[in-house]
Amino acid sequence: MIGFRSIRSRILAFAVLATVVPSLGLGLLTYWRYQALVGAKVAVELRTLNNYARSELGLWIAKHVDDLRALSNANTIQAALSRTPAAGQSPARIGAREIEVFLRSVQANLDSIVELSVLDASARLVASSVASPAPAVLPAAWSDREAIGSPVQLMPQWDSARASATLTVIVPIGSGTDAFLGALVGIIDLGALRGRLDAIATSSAAEVVLIAPSGAPLLGSHGTTPELKRLDPESLQDLQSRPGETVSYRGHRGREVVGLTARPGPSPLWVVAERDSSDVFRERRQLLELFARLTAALTVLVGVLAYWIGRSIVSPLDELVRAVDRIADGDLAVRLSPAGTAEVGRLTRAVNTMVGRLNRSHEEVESAKRALEQQNRMLEALSVTDGLTGLYNRKKLDAILVEQFGLYLRHRRPFALLMLDIDHFKALNDNHGHLGGDQMLVKVAGVLRRCIRSVDQVARYGGEEFAIVLVEATLEGALDTAQRIRTSIASSELVFNDRPVSATVSVGVTRCRDTDTGPEDVIARADAALYEAKRAGRNRVHCADETASPAGAMPPADRPA
Ligand code: GH3
Ligand code: MG
Ligand code: MG
Repeated sequence: MIGFRSIRSRILAFAVLATVVPSLGLGLLTYWRYQALVGAKVAVELRTLNNYARSELGLWIAKHVDDLRALSNANTIQAALSRTPAAGQSPARIGAREIEVFLRSVQANLDSIVELSVLDASARLVASSVASPAPAVLPAAWSDREAIGSPVQLMPQWDSARASATLTVIVPIGSGTDAFLGALVGIIDLGALRGRLDAIATSSAAEVVLIAPSGAPLLGSHGTTPELKRLDPESLQDLQSRPGETVSYRGHRGREVVGLTARPGPSPLWVVAERDSSDVFRERRQLLELFARLTAALTVLVGVLAYWIGRSIVSPLDELVRAVDRIADGDLAVRLSPAGTAEVGRLTRAVNTMVGRLNRSHEEVESAKRALEQQNRMLEALSVTDGLTGLYNRKKLDAILVEQFGLYLRHRRPFALLMLDIDHFKALNDNHGHLGGDQMLVKVAGVLRRCIRSVDQVARYGGEEFAIVLVEATLEGALDTAQRIRTSIASSELVFNDRPVSATVSVGVTRCRDTDTGPEDVIARADAALYEAKRAGRNRVHCADETASPAGAMPPADRPA
């Protein structure tokens, strides 16, 4: 059932069901209706055939009975039977020879009559057209002569000697005064009826079969009689109990048939008309096959259409889902083409609008972030900058010294530290005021910036004191820089309130050493050197280390850090 969770498979399933169910319903309805129509049509056809065969049979038998009746009135027979017998002579033997000759000549002219016999009033054989006549089984009512006023038809039967079915007709013989003289027995060959049934064989697929009341087949319209099989008793009972109605059974030729019979007329023969079921229902089967093919073709067609429709709905949705996934992953560059069905188109536009808004919000957030970062950078710069001189402050100087000391320990990159103090600054303040003092501080800061390399760092240590870190500097280089600074400051002049103001500085110089445990040791040494410079009279440079020599300028590489 997992497969039916997708929209596409649901559309497909619905479309196929919507095709198959009505098609099958319509097909079955048509099939049933058609079956009823075919049944009715076959019933009419069989009934018509049956009626036709029965009327042919009736006419044919009536003609033969008429012939026999006319024969029974023949003078030759009546005169011979009317003669009074001599004493001890059988009445039947009177004129037997005459009758026999007569019967033979008559039978020769009647094709369908295979035997003619004359009985006397006591039912004894007088004469016959054949040498050994079949014994006539007279009806039980024969003794009641009044009842034998008209011809009697005995049960038809199969005559194996003649390989044909025969019907025995007994016609009473009366004298001119209506005295009962005897009977004429005629045996009619039913096989001669075939000529009459030929029309059925050529015009219809149905077969007409004449059967005895016992069910014994006597004659069929479509082939020789011995091929006909006796119906099973149930089918026979079924047929005979429902005359005029169609019945399905195994027919006289061993195939499944639809057949019907009608009640016999004056003769005791049953006429059965039957047609092969496969023949009758061939069209029905063809119709079923046609429906099956049509339904299959429709199902395939609708399936393909449904698949295509499903695709056209699902593909834009798939695209939307992929786009939303990308948006969820933070990709705001997603843009969807506003194609697709009305609903999907609306959804696409909504997603595009949403992405647009997200983009704008994102840009606002980004610009706020940039502003914040700038402010942070400014704050950071302010936090490490001296407000008056613009140099690094003490805090930043400490960080620089920690970093440089680390580099020295790890990579043997030495640095030198210069500590400067403006001489008699208190007096300068006193003479020119604090503003004048401030200006001097700014001026000194400017000189310091100009006198160092870009890799070196200068900071205001506090009050009128400054510190300079000279990266990878030799002691001589550091001393040179210190002297250059000192002379630059001493030679530069500041005009404040139209009065010239000048100042000198004292400088303490030192380099980091392996024995230093941290930057504090370096600061303390530079500070001490500065103090020595002050003590020695100010406006001078004092070095805390051994005076300049190449060996003393650089820390020996083999000394432990
Ligand atoms: P020395 O030669 O021994 O260094 O004498 P000095 O007067 O320079 O030293 P002292 O420590 O006695 O005086 C330092 C003065 O610097 C005291 C203080 O008022 C002044 N000062 C410190 N910071 C500032 C500042 O930011 N602006 C001004 N104008 N003066 C400052
Ligand atoms: Mg000072
Ligand atoms: Mg001072």
